[in-house]
Amino acid sequence: MKVLSKTYENYINGKWKAPQSGGYKESISPSDKRDIVGYVPVSTIVDVDEAVRAGKQAQIAWRKLSGAARGEYLRKTADILEQRSDEIAETLTREMGKTLVEAKGETLRGVDILRYYANEGMRSIGEVIPSTDQDTLLFTTRAPLGVIGLITPWNFPVAIPVHKMAPALVYGNTIVIKSAFETTVTAIKLLECFIDAGFPPGVVNLVSGRGSTIGNALCEHPDIKAISFTGSNDVGQIIAAKAVKRGVKFQLEMGGKNPVIVTKHADLDLAADLTVSGSMKSAGQKCTATSRAIVVEEVYEAFRDKVLQRIQNIQVGNGLHADSYMGPVSSENQYCTVLEAIKKGIEEGARLIAGGKPESTGDLEHGYYIEPTVFDEVKPDMFIAQEEIFGPVLALIKVESLDQALRVANDVKYGLSASIFTAHLDEVFQYLAEMEAGMIRINGETTGLEYQAPFGGLKASSTQARELGRAAIDFFTSIKTITIKP
Ligand code: NAD
Repeated sequence: MKVLSKTYENYINGKWKAPQSGGYKESISPSDKRDIVGYVPVSTIVDVDEAVRAGKQAQIAWRKLSGAARGEYLRKTADILEQRSDEIAETLTREMGKTLVEAKGETLRGVDILRYYANEGMRSIGEVIPSTDQDTLLFTTRAPLGVIGLITPWNFPVAIPVHKMAPALVYGNTIVIKSAFETTVTAIKLLECFIDAGFPPGVVNLVSGRGSTIGNALCEHPDIKAISFTGSNDVGQIIAAKAVKRGVKFQLEMGGKNPVIVTKHADLDLAADLTVSGSMKSAGQKCTATSRAIVVEEVYEAFRDKVLQRIQNIQVGNGLHADSYMGPVSSENQYCTVLEAIKKGIEEGARLIAGGKPESTGDLEHGYYIEPTVFDEVKPDMFIAQEEIFGPVLALIKVESLDQALRVANDVKYGLSASIFTAHLDEVFQYLAEMEAGMIRINGETTGLEYQAPFGGLKASSTQARELGRAAIDFFTSIKTITIKP
């Protein structure tokens, strides 16, 4: 058990600054509540205003730089993040709870994304279109939006900020980031990489604090020209309403209730392996985590047995220990929410066949650990089959056919990610045509992404422009159509 008590500050206009409130909050490790990762600022709307004003001033020069020059700053940031990846991954594990292997993977993904968008600074930002008029040049170009507010969750405290920071910056915007309060130390360590890469003052600003004050103030600030948000559906709705009222762009990446469909033509060992890893890694706290396995009756029992065998082998423990497969959930709040959802599942009549309780043996009693949990005989309309739990909880649902599986899979408000396990091409084609999800997998885990491809969901999982890949340019810029005549 480590106790470290460093106090961190906001970063505004190229300087570390204490919050106006003078208040700080402990950031406590969910793996061991005795481990204080740091003290982070509880900021006020005055801090937000100062950061946005700095961003506005800095954008005048930043937007004039070439894309290649802006990309160079990202490339330097990537190199620094790579050098510090062990230290940053360790902080991430302590502060959020995922295992060190996952934290390192996330940090290195951040490095790759920074390099990808560094190269974007050199790619085409418009097209030449034949004019119907003689001697006329007609083309499009892209303009940055201004200062962008970035609001991010705690479950990927390195990768998700980078998803947004890298494209926002390379296309000529400046940013104010409000990362999740629970993982502010990790966000600040990420930010230090940007600072040490030499970004000019005011281009990158971070204000730490509660969503209801700092996030809210960002959404309402008149000089914020767009909001890019990743988080829960409830908060996304609040942000959307504010953005619509102000007439600014917004991008929302929200929750999921991601299914795997297992047909009688599936490789059941592969399906069980990837259902268990998809549902239990990161203690189920990924937006793309598998939370429902919809299985046709011919193979239901065989699949359930294979899932149970694998669940029993899961080693729960502090993510810093090499033998831990699954760490704690990320906070007391998550712990209570997940245990409450499990209670609801039992009350609704689903059959608990694995887990269901806190893990509290030995050192685990000091953290927010929950046993890997599986429910059998889940009906599609139950709470645990409909709502995002965001914890290590898997619902098994038996169906008669692929038609029914697809109806059940689609009959939720979300549409983020889905997978089918089958070796039958007809089934694949039917699933491709009917599955309502933004991220569609065949014989794969519902989690994971490729940063060079667009990422996002359908229905209540996402709105507006996609993240990542070339698609990010659509959100972080606006198009100008230009006509030149001699
Ligand atoms: P959350 O919605 O509680 O918080 C997200 C961010 O919004 C935090 O920074 C929070 O401080 C801020 N916030 C809270 N209230 C606010 C308000 N009124 N105004 C402005 N900002 C406010 O989500 P969370 O618990 O941090 O993250 C978990 C959720 O994120 C899950 O639903 C998960 O599915 C989703 N998620 C989605 C994706 C995706 O890409 N689709 C990725 C990761 C996580």
